Amino acid sequence: MEYIKSKIRDVADFPSKGIIFRDLTTAFKDPRALHIIGWDLSQLYRDKGVTKVVGIESRGFIAGSILAFELGAGFVPARKPGKLPADVITESYDKEYGKDTIEMHSDAIGPDDVVVIHDDVLATGGTMAAAYRLVKSMNPKKIYINFIVELEGLNGRAALPADAEVTSLIKY
Ligand code: AMP
Repeated sequence: MEYIKSKIRDVADFPSKGIIFRDLTTAFKDPRALHIIGWDLSQLYRDKGVTKVVGIESRGFIAGSILAFELGAGFVPARKPGKLPADVITESYDKEYGKDTIEMHSDAIGPDDVVVIHDDVLATGGTMAAAYRLVKSMNPKKIYINFIVELEGLNGRAALPADAEVTSLIKY
């Protein structure tokens, strides 16, 4: 875990003043860090019968795909509005300034699915809470929530459903 942490780049004042951005591109480009991330994430969900990994656009697509591959599960994207070509379901959520929206294909998840929703970083939790509502509306058997990095100071877990099982590899 210390190795992955050593490869995450802290960028001050991005995207706005006062924010320390935890940049995972420097970990993803490092072969050993990428391998450890994929392996450690998959170890959290072995033997849980996971059938689909939902990755949140766009940074959740990277390790989300690796996790799906490692678990022998399918991959489903949760995307920004207007990107998915077929019938979609939509959720909006509050951001610091105004609202944001994410979408999924309405046939992406079924009642037999066991789902892990993955994003790279848990900040305020607003994005993941919206993704959870989308997945929940499709009535899967079970939903897990996963991040590579959790920013504990922002208390994002409080925005997530109390009964959700949340894991993260690295905490700041
Ligand atoms: P949230 O506030 O939890 O809804 O986060 C929204 C998105 O922004 C997530 O997908 C995170 O990947 C990203 N994000 C927010 N804050 C940071 C940060 N300090 N460092 C890196 N990514 C962040």
